Amino acid sequence: MAPYVGRFAPSPTGLLHAGSLVAALASWLDARAHGGQWRVRIEDVDTPRCVAGAGEAIVQQLLRCGLVPDGEVLWQSQRGAAYQQALDALIATGLAYPCGCSRKDIEAAQTQPTERHKAQIYPGTCRQGLQGKPARAWRLNVQAVREARGLPPLTRWHDRRLGEQAEDVAQAVGDFVLRRADGLWAYQLAVVVDDAAQGITDVVRGQDLADNTARQIVLQQALGLPTPRYLHTPLVLGPNGEKLSKQNGAAPLDLADPLTALNAAALTLGLAPAPEGTPLERALADWTGPWRQRLGA
Ligand code: GLU
Repeated sequence: MAPYVGRFAPSPTGLLHAGSLVAALASWLDARAHGGQWRVRIEDVDTPRCVAGAGEAIVQQLLRCGLVPDGEVLWQSQRGAAYQQALDALIATGLAYPCGCSRKDIEAAQTQPTERHKAQIYPGTCRQGLQGKPARAWRLNVQAVREARGLPPLTRWHDRRLGEQAEDVAQAVGDFVLRRADGLWAYQLAVVVDDAAQGITDVVRGQDLADNTARQIVLQQALGLPTPRYLHTPLVLGPNGEKLSKQNGAAPLDLADPLTALNAAALTLGLAPAPEGTPLERALADWTGPWRQRLGA
């Protein structure tokens, strides 16, 4: 088995808050519990949503919490050539195609109402060609991937906390975007290419991202890349019962008192808070044992 390499991969759309620290702490503990490496990757591909300086500030926040990355921090904004290479490989093998549909076109083609926060299902309009429309985005041809790789309709995966999961990607989301109409790289492509390039064996991240996993596995299969193990951590809910986020008023971590912030994250993960005054290194080391016992497998 490949030696454990984990990662924390925040998008620098703002500073870390109580919710994002849970994923940071869980991924750090999991790496330490396995005697592995913990990488930090700043996912600054969606430039209009990125806040200037937030990536550097997040790294500082992590250090302040005693969460020290192994090796250099990877910045997705530097990785365009690798994403282009992956897209080119998919185009060359007939697994990706250009799409000329606007958001309006896709909305108009919906046969069922789309749930809030869910990606609209792409009806496959441009799979057979652009029909004179200019190319806007690039999409993965999910059906072609299945046929080329001999895959069943249901993508199954095991989550170390949530158990067995399955999704029919063609039905649930359709041919998803690899490169956006605005020329930016899509999260799915960037994350899959970088997880493989960094040799990530274990993805530990917030549960709100769990429903991206099947898409990422299909893309790994399309690109001939290994599939890591997955563990999705519990979410911290905001006052409105939704996932805590900057949009619903999550405050940046108070780094005058990192132990209090870490204790709250530990509690969310079912770990006993460390007594006041405990040095950070001690608290982190003390959580590693129980983490290993519970989720180390
Ligand atoms: N950058 C993503 C986010 O902050 C997380 C990516 C991942 O862990 O796969 O929501």
